[in-house]
Amino acid sequence: MENPNNFSKPACSCGYDKSNLKVQHKCEYSGFGQVLYWIGISAVPVRVNFVCTVCNEAIESTDDPNILKQYVGR
Ligand SMILES: [Zn+2]
Repeated sequence: MENPNNFSKPACSCGYDKSNLKVQHKCEYSGFGQVLYWIGISAVPVRVNFVCTVCNEAIESTDDPNILKQYVGR
């Protein structure tokens, strides 16, 4: 029998998707962006990973510029 979850939003082993409070985003910055971040300038991350804080599983990761913009300085 097919798992219907295969067609829904990505989720971790606990079943949380990236909109769940247990799932936190972790931004990755380029070397230059990291420097800007240290000196207090908001840099656009090069990638955002959505990681479950319970099982530590990465649910989703994106380098879509439109999504990255939402995570500037976060
Ligand atoms: Zn989980």
